Amino acid sequence: MDASTIKVPVHDRFYIGGKWVEPAVPGETHHVIDASTEAIIATVPLGDAADVDRAVAAARRGFDTWSQSDLRTRSEALTEIHAKLAERSQEIAALISSEMGMPLPVSGLLQAGLPLWSFATMAKLVHEFAWEEEVGNSLIVREPVGVVGAITPWNYPLHQIAAKVAPAIAAGCAIVLKPSEVAPLSSFVLAEVIDSVGLPAGVFNLVTGTGPVVGEALARHTDVDMISLTGSTRAGRRVSELAAQTIKRVSLELGGKSANIILDDVGEDLTAAVVDGIQKCFVNSGQTCTAFTRMLVPRHLLAQVEGIARSVVEALKLGSPFAPGSELGPMVTKGHLETVRRYIAKGIEEGAKLICGGPEPVAGLAKGWFARPTVFSGVAPGMTIEQEEIFGPVLSIIPYDDEGEAIRIANDTIYGLSGGVWSRDPARAERVARRMRTGMVDINGGAFNPMQAFGGYKQSGNGRELGVHGLAEFTEIKAIQR
Ligand code: NAD
Repeated sequence: MDASTIKVPVHDRFYIGGKWVEPAVPGETHHVIDASTEAIIATVPLGDAADVDRAVAAARRGFDTWSQSDLRTRSEALTEIHAKLAERSQEIAALISSEMGMPLPVSGLLQAGLPLWSFATMAKLVHEFAWEEEVGNSLIVREPVGVVGAITPWNYPLHQIAAKVAPAIAAGCAIVLKPSEVAPLSSFVLAEVIDSVGLPAGVFNLVTGTGPVVGEALARHTDVDMISLTGSTRAGRRVSELAAQTIKRVSLELGGKSANIILDDVGEDLTAAVVDGIQKCFVNSGQTCTAFTRMLVPRHLLAQVEGIARSVVEALKLGSPFAPGSELGPMVTKGHLETVRRYIAKGIEEGAKLICGGPEPVAGLAKGWFARPTVFSGVAPGMTIEQEEIFGPVLSIIPYDDEGEAIRIANDTIYGLSGGVWSRDPARAERVARRMRTGMVDINGGAFNPMQAFGGYKQSGNGRELGVHGLAEFTEIKAIQR
């Protein structure tokens, strides 16, 4: 499937209470734009607080039924959703490649593949999860948290939706989903799939719209028990403030500025360490929350690392997500491209050494919001590009003098999402990994584990997604004394 064969239906309805319904105030729409051709590819309706009220009321009714369902019913529903999504994998990959620009083969693996994993995993975990335990004279039971408002971003749109919807269904919750207005198309595919498997009405509801309108209405709502948000730290802060009024549960997966510490005993693994760090920085054109955007390097290895980084990054092929061989697609929107370019210009202005890339437009690509893959070296702690999440293809190489300094620099941002350590000594690598104030650390190129407790420390959030920890997020604990 390629861009020309995708058929995007007109979306003018929300999915509420098991039906496709018109918005309370029809007519307000948002254009979904192809990030590499700049063409409008679809429109979606923009909801308001009245639509949220209807969806939450439907979810309350859905919760009454679904919270009483048995585990087998939940597992079968998740298995069926998995099967029907799998039938539409190619379409999902192509839709997401169009709306946010990820090269199609990677989109097939990640954008279409990871959601399948979430539904399959939860279908199995439902049967393995510790729903009850005895503690003295108490029976401790896990119950569904209730009506969940799920708010998701555009960078891995269906993955982030599935990481909430699958465990929420497994736990017995009902959901009102507000996907990103920038990349909402796969959420309509999921709603169609869920509609076709016949979950009880109201268990899953979809209302598209903007964060300040639909997202905030969910966060404020007295009948929403939990908000699960993946997005920027700014949005997480705002949602927390609003949710505090009703003491609702808030689970946050937010931004990052992850450090990859290459230790001085890396030895002959140096090239592998730099290449792995670059892949984990530039995947999805740097539009990844866990991106390893800071590479911490012993000062005596700096020149060598700069050389490897330049040759790897200069060889990256930019282009349409549908062109064979494209490795990096565009930034998601024009506004986001401008932000990324401003950060690159700021790095130069603050005195970082530009190794390759820069703020200029990409030659030869007249359409699409492409940013030049950029590497800075000699980046000093405290520089803007060292502290702030850029969310684009920009790597900062930071020299350090000893292990203690490396750990201090790694920990010295408001974020704490992910990170890496490279060393020939596994015990040393683990010791350093444990001193990093982040929710996740990869040692010597450790691969992403779709069962891992995914989430951050500090202002990267407080939630955990995927696997058993992701399922536990959607449960309340009740103690019954006998
Ligand atoms: P964003 O914060 O702009 O939007 C995320 C979602 O929140 C969208 O649905 C948006 O409409 C909504 N939103 C925005 N303002 C809101 C408000 N005031 N009230 C309620 N909802 C609001 O983020 P984005 O640009 O879509 O995504 C990029 C950000 O997401 C980056 O910071 C990235 O690091 C983060 N992210 C984090 C993870 C993670 O798992 N930690 C994963 C992916 C992306």
